[in-house]
Amino acid sequence: MNRKRRGGGGFLLALLLVAIVSLGVPSFTVMMVFAASESHAPETEAKAQQRTEKIVSEKKLDPKELAVRKMTKHGPALIVVDAGHGGVDDGCLGGGLLEKDVNLQIALLVKEKLEEKGFQVMMPRETDEYLAIEERVELANSYQADAYISIHQNTYEGSDKSVCGIETWYDGGDKTRDNEKLARLVHQEALKSTGAKERKLWDIADYCVTNKTLMPACLIETGFLSNPEESRRLSSKAYQEKLAQGIAEGIALYFTS
Ligand SMILES: [Zn+2]
Repeated sequence: MNRKRRGGGGFLLALLLVAIVSLGVPSFTVMMVFAASESHAPETEAKAQQRTEKIVSEKKLDPKELAVRKMTKHGPALIVVDAGHGGVDDGCLGGGLLEKDVNLQIALLVKEKLEEKGFQVMMPRETDEYLAIEERVELANSYQADAYISIHQNTYEGSDKSVCGIETWYDGGDKTRDNEKLARLVHQEALKSTGAKERKLWDIADYCVTNKTLMPACLIETGFLSNPEESRRLSSKAYQEKLAQGIAEGIALYFTS
């Protein structure tokens, strides 16, 4: 995760400043609509359309592709699989690995496993590109996704290289979404499929991706790059497959149990 703990009051302020400075007054209005949506107020069709158009132009998504996803909204659940960091943002480092690369490799495998189970999957990034945290959340909210999973690697900044294992974070304060169930099942199944050391399931996540998303969301840190043995495992395709299988199974259980 690497000290990028986001959320709280700074988020809205940053969003407003970005809107005012770079996008001008009309987009400022759009941002206010987005901010207001946190209270789960109903959104008019026109406003939703306006927001969707903005996302499409920013991410250069094919509008036809977006329409297909929207039409199938009531079919298989749509899962956002977010590979943390990317582009100029490497995340943490260790064992010759960059967190952003490991996150993406695992996320792509999670996408594959979820699609095998019949889910629809959207990834904010599928390549090594920089994408602001707020943009990822806005994409997920705009798509009205059914669940959001953010994938990260951990690092221990002290001298103890033996620290290892999986920890998972969710916003336990927001009772409008079943974040706890999603986080608990993803945590449990990832541990089961890998045999990794269990670390805490944290209910106090203060990250933009866990707190500003409107659907059940969690953030999993699948291991410590600062631990030489664990970073070696994390770099192997076989171990990444196990992690992805567990994460996908946890998400599937969320919808079926
Ligand atoms: Zn990270």
